[in-house]
Amino acid sequence: MSDSKSRHLSLLYDISELSSIVSESKDIDTFLHQVVNSVASHLNADVGSIYLLDDERNELVLKATKGLNPLSVDHIRMKIGEGLVGTTMARMAPLCDGVACDNPLFKHFEEAEEDAYKSFLSVPISRGIEKIGVLVVQHQQPNYFDAADIMALRAIATQLAGTVANARLMIGLRQFKQEKNPRSRLEELKFIKGEAASPGFAMATALRLRSESPLLVEEPEKNFHGSVKAYRRALQHTLEQLRQLQEQLVQRLPEGAALIFEAHHMILKDPRFDHQITDLIQQGQTAPAAVRQVARQFMSLFDTSPSSYIREKAHDIEDLAGRILFNLRKDKGQGASPMEGHILIASQLYPSEVLKLASERVAGIVLVSGGVTSHVAIIARSLKIPLIIARHSGLLDVPAGTPILMDADVGNIYVDPSAHVLRKFEGRERVARATQAQSAIMKSETKTLDGVRVHLMANINLLSELSLARELKAEGIGLYRSEFPFIVRSVFPSEEEQRLVYIRLFEQMSGLPIYVRTLDIGGDKILPYLNLPMEANPELGLRSIRFLLKNRDVFDQQLRAILRAAVGAKQVGILFPMISSLDEFEAAHRAVKEAMSALDKDGLEYNRSPIIGTMIEMPSVLTIIDELAAKADFFSIGTNDFIQYMLAVDRTNENVAEYYQPFQPVILRALANIVRRLGQFGKPISVCGETAHDPEFVAFLLGIGVRRLSLDPQYLPAIQQVIAAKSIAAVENFANELVAASSYQEVQMIRTRYKEKN
Ligand code: PEP
Ligand code: MG
Repeated sequence: MSDSKSRHLSLLYDISELSSIVSESKDIDTFLHQVVNSVASHLNADVGSIYLLDDERNELVLKATKGLNPLSVDHIRMKIGEGLVGTTMARMAPLCDGVACDNPLFKHFEEAEEDAYKSFLSVPISRGIEKIGVLVVQHQQPNYFDAADIMALRAIATQLAGTVANARLMIGLRQFKQEKNPRSRLEELKFIKGEAASPGFAMATALRLRSESPLLVEEPEKNFHGSVKAYRRALQHTLEQLRQLQEQLVQRLPEGAALIFEAHHMILKDPRFDHQITDLIQQGQTAPAAVRQVARQFMSLFDTSPSSYIREKAHDIEDLAGRILFNLRKDKGQGASPMEGHILIASQLYPSEVLKLASERVAGIVLVSGGVTSHVAIIARSLKIPLIIARHSGLLDVPAGTPILMDADVGNIYVDPSAHVLRKFEGRERVARATQAQSAIMKSETKTLDGVRVHLMANINLLSELSLARELKAEGIGLYRSEFPFIVRSVFPSEEEQRLVYIRLFEQMSGLPIYVRTLDIGGDKILPYLNLPMEANPELGLRSIRFLLKNRDVFDQQLRAILRAAVGAKQVGILFPMISSLDEFEAAHRAVKEAMSALDKDGLEYNRSPIIGTMIEMPSVLTIIDELAAKADFFSIGTNDFIQYMLAVDRTNENVAEYYQPFQPVILRALANIVRRLGQFGKPISVCGETAHDPEFVAFLLGIGVRRLSLDPQYLPAIQQVIAAKSIAAVENFANELVAASSYQEVQMIRTRYKEKN
């Protein structure tokens, strides 16, 4: 090693140097530029370059260079494994070549103007498992870099990793996205296989939810009407549309329809909002500019509130302003609202937002995150909105207005479908109607091929589903998820409001068993007005029965409302969710008794003989199942959560979706064990998770002795037919084989054999 180079052995940046690069840089580009300058000068190199990974496209992009043609920044891109740079990232190891252009891996980029540089040295930049980019130095002299340089460059890359990772994140938010050529991205997205979360079919144009705020979109003023008169007209129009939306909602969501657009009305009632907009227009601004300005002012007031609930209201102002702007447009197209008739593409949604979207009559929803057992999926099914979960973030770049065809029965998405695809789906809506007609032939009793009786009950999330449950001859409600009336409101519903909801439930299914589950909030079901502190692990947090036992007034009000509404009802069950110990069950049970005593004191009528049950969804109850069985009157196995907690896999987290496997031997064995042990007590046991509508899983459940299932009403006819085609001997064989299998692989082989035979 020459003298001039030996000093580079101490090439580690000292902290002050690194921090001066960070602090002196005005922006990210300057920062990256200073990094490459500094690296090149430390290594006496002619060229210093940094490539960052654009992980949406899985490509390394040249982001800054000293020595190469500056115009090639942002243009030179290499896939992982492509060229010397891509190979460095693929191998996650330094690459040093004395004459790079002779290396077969070398990729020539005309625009780089690098022909003069013979020596090449690159190192990957990474942090933990995060791949960030590649740092490169080049020199005109052949065989210039040596082992000491490799060490030095590696050390620098390690030091820079954290700061560069942050820079890359910021760039990811702005640049990588802008550079995409929407047309070619569309080509990649022609067909996407997602998961069917709520069945149905939709053919409509795409709209990205929350892609960009209507307040930020810079659209030419000429697209809008601008006068005070036009504003007043748009305002009236908006009010009328909101009124109509609410009217429609009363049909679909009797449990809280009037309240969904409550915040919008409050804002419209605030004279400052209207006056300020009118004043601004009179002072010479155009109507859209005035609406944007005033909406922004109001939003900033809300945004600074310490209450998350109030901050959330900023979205309502944005939404309202979006509606007024939509009505100010000269060309609004067909829809009565910005979302009507579109297929919405969103990165994330809350159950309450799905309720709102239903009122807007969206044609379908494509979600790029979440799981099919998440409550967003559950509520979309209740509202009959086709929903596909496709973990493909590229979908978020589909330009608004692109035609999309969703076959949500199987999870297929066709972006800008060809005439051939469209022809394949012609008449699809007619088929959907025919399926409904067929469902009318549902028998009132379900029996297996060999005549064993199975009870099919309905899971109900919204009151609007009761009529379908009745039509499809559900033998009761095995699970009423009572949280949705809470989710649609902006404050806790009072005891009286809840009572009115439950009365409808008991009236409409009178004479049949009805199991009302007490409030199961938390996890992915958030009540914004609760304003609880954020939890790092909400699924393991203060949710469900834990919340109720900590907030006795909420619990007591709900119990009173159920008991009072159930006067005269014959078979009422109160079901506790997420019970993890005997103590919890006993505390919840005591709360029912105390609510009864309080009602006695108040002289109010109530149902004196409800049965008290528990959900089986926590693995911890496996060890106390016999004691629990002795205390509770009935059991409902919630496989959605049971699988989540048994396998420690968040049911809403798409990154671990492949771990969420109902057919894992641990799940199969645990369920068989639970059903066998509970069965000895002769008390009703049902399964109410999503597995209860999976035909293959139903065969397993019948095989381990389950004779009661509770499922979303639309699946009742199909599951009745599945059961009618099975003999108990055959499903017992299937179940025994599955329970004997110790690995998932073995299970898969058994399933394949079973499918071939059936
Ligand atoms: C379950 O966990 O299986 C269940 C039915 O409850 P939920 O889906 O509402 O959590
Ligand atoms: Mg559950």
